[in-house]
Amino acid sequence: MSKTSPQPQTTIARPACLSGIGFFTGTDVTVQLLPADENTGIVFQRIDVPDKPLIPATIEYLLPSHRRTVIGAHGVSVEMIEHAMAALAGLGVDNCRLQLDAPEFPGFDGSSKPIVDALLSAGIVTQSASCKTFRVTDSVVASDASGATITVGHSDQPGCVVSFELDYGPESPFAAQSLTIEVTPETFANQLAFARTFVLEAEVAALKSRGYGQRVTPQDLIVFRSDGSVIDNELRATDECVRHKILDCIGDLALLGHRIHGHIVAIRSGHELNHKIVRCILGTKAPMTKATMTKAA
Ligand SMILES: [Zn+2]
Repeated sequence: MSKTSPQPQTTIARPACLSGIGFFTGTDVTVQLLPADENTGIVFQRIDVPDKPLIPATIEYLLPSHRRTVIGAHGVSVEMIEHAMAALAGLGVDNCRLQLDAPEFPGFDGSSKPIVDALLSAGIVTQSASCKTFRVTDSVVASDASGATITVGHSDQPGCVVSFELDYGPESPFAAQSLTIEVTPETFANQLAFARTFVLEAEVAALKSRGYGQRVTPQDLIVFRSDGSVIDNELRATDECVRHKILDCIGDLALLGHRIHGHIVAIRSGHELNHKIVRCILGTKAPMTKATMTKAA
């Protein structure tokens, strides 16, 4: 694997504002998307706590969590950053500061589309420094006990290609779906950003019993009944689920802090495995570093 710097870094031309509710915590939250200097990377900032701590969105600041991506530092955390990370990485935005007045990023409609729209309306501008890129030469593989795998390997294409196979077997409420897509700002905005989070009806009950998602309704994301029908909502594409899994993958692998030039091949991979491959790419065996040295709230 080698680093190359073929393209300029980018940021947004002017600030943008978004507001909504956090899916897990149910808190109202307003986010200011702000331009950032070159080599800043993607940084979240909690402005509702003393000293307004900054939390870089890199794997070193990842906190253990279930079904979402959470980062933390200086005793505070930001929940569910993956759809914002996907929007930024998908559009090729290298530097941005995201100020929040609550502990969780807004869930919106369960997709990245509102964030993409805000970034595009703010405008994306190039900077002088070259972007940080990992050009993959040797394949890196991560897997888990369920047989899910994710491989990051060489690609002859100049950018990042993602292939995803989503097959949860005969118990799944939807048929197997697979998709290969070259990720560019155009394909991300038009073919991936709209794809929403999906859950099973039984999972919703379990999450709500643990106090999560109290303000989320079936109109806010896709809830599948066991027979495969969708509750109080309609799919935006027949393969919306695999498109969302690719979106999540792009957001999670952005924790690498570099653009990836390579081919990502994922089979049923989720957040945990996506995080594991980032650590494998960086050659980091330890599951936690900076994030665990602080007590996150
Ligand atoms: Zn997601």
